[in-house]
Amino acid sequence: MKACNSILDTIGNTPLIRINKLAPEHVNLYVKMEAFNPGGSVKDRLALGIIEDAERKGLLQPGQTVVEATSGNTGIGLAVVCAQKGYPLVVTMAESFSVERRKLMRFLGARVVLTPAALKGTGMVQKARELSEAHGWFLCRQFENEANADIHSATTGPEILEAFEGEPLHYWVSGYGTGGTVKGVARYLSRHSPDTRIIVCEPDNSNLLSSGIKQQHNPDGSAAVSHPSFRPHLMQGWTPDFISKLTDDAIAADWIDQVLPIHGQNALDYAKRLAREEGIFVGITAGATFAGAVEIANNAPAGSNIVCMLPDTGERYLSTPLFEQISEQMTDEELGLSASTPSARFDAPPPAPSATAQTSATDASEAAKTFFNDTIHNKNAAVVVFALEWCEFCWSIKKLFNQCNIPFTSIDLDSATYQDNDFGGDIRRALNAHTGCITIPQVFVNGTFIGGCTETFDAFRAGTLQQSLKALEVEFDETCPLDPYTLLPKWLHPR
Ligand code: PMP
Repeated sequence: MKACNSILDTIGNTPLIRINKLAPEHVNLYVKMEAFNPGGSVKDRLALGIIEDAERKGLLQPGQTVVEATSGNTGIGLAVVCAQKGYPLVVTMAESFSVERRKLMRFLGARVVLTPAALKGTGMVQKARELSEAHGWFLCRQFENEANADIHSATTGPEILEAFEGEPLHYWVSGYGTGGTVKGVARYLSRHSPDTRIIVCEPDNSNLLSSGIKQQHNPDGSAAVSHPSFRPHLMQGWTPDFISKLTDDAIAADWIDQVLPIHGQNALDYAKRLAREEGIFVGITAGATFAGAVEIANNAPAGSNIVCMLPDTGERYLSTPLFEQISEQMTDEELGLSASTPSARFDAPPPAPSATAQTSATDASEAAKTFFNDTIHNKNAAVVVFALEWCEFCWSIKKLFNQCNIPFTSIDLDSATYQDNDFGGDIRRALNAHTGCITIPQVFVNGTFIGGCTETFDAFRAGTLQQSLKALEVEFDETCPLDPYTLLPKWLHPR
């Protein structure tokens, strides 16, 4: 494989993978696994397609802000493309989509403007349009933009047929959100493999296409009203509360042979089974599309070749019903396994601290003792934390002080600052000799030892820590209503 010029070269060319256990034996069922795109979903294709089309047409100037309404995957794809090409990105998204999506986009440098869930897809689309008009930003218009469908005609469609090397493709199964995948691939297949049957899935409780009720569009192609058949459904990324122009185009062209309703539980079950029985880790709409593909496979003639789109990765759904039954704590079975051998159990007493962890007072050098004494008695810095740089308990104390604006000095004993001649270890020996306590963190206020994490938190809860700070005229936010115990590492909470 040749070196890529940038991450953008890795978009597309996703693998087509044979299903070995979850398909009936009389057919060949393959999945197109779009999680292999760098942003983890099919929408990376659209992001690259729309941005490069706008660049070619002069609609997007260097450094101009890009804005779009998205259920998340388009935003993540755009964030990848915009990060690489240097465009600032603003995404509008209904608050009801999974929180990991917001964080992913922000991690990639985008800004995310949330819109009320009650206003559904049309609300976030309107917000994006307003922002674009108010600020002169480039609006992607993924639901109407032809570049969305074009990229699928240029990449997804040809990739599928090339993988078959001239063998016939009998069925292609997909869901629809913007309809870009459906319009683009169906157009390509209608020209290059006209006998392929195009199957489009939708949620059974939000059956916009099978309702037969037409969608009204504005002159610019955007949806004029919410579709009357829309209901909240599980398949984030599928079926917004309107039929997009791109989807309507595919219907008008008569490319769709069959619309399949999919039940939410079927989608969850197949996403889980794909993971456990095929090692294919994908999201809810992938499970839903696969449920449709299995239904087609069950009724297809022997020897049929079927391709099913799997739009994204399962990691995007940790906070959703897909992971609801997945325990963070050990299950009874796992507890049984833990108890089946003697070591490292939670139901046996912890081992005694090893002798080597004990350090002797006499070991500290004069320089370390002086440093230690000067630090804890520094008149200008009353609060001192002796810490380890990446220790979560030390962070918990620092978070408490930061949230209450309590000024403090942190001596990070294992940091590079104190590495020469193990001065950090040396200071720690002086500290241990002084307090008789070997664990870190250790907190001092005006030379007085408060304790470790628990003692400091208890002093805060009791208000005594605040009293000593006030007596010393240390300024901080006295109104901070925090329970410091909530700042402890999450894994500490019951198993
Ligand atoms: N599944 C998921 C998870 C999606 O994010 C999307 C796109 N919104 C789709 C399916 C549908 O793809 P398209 O927009 O091309 O119709």
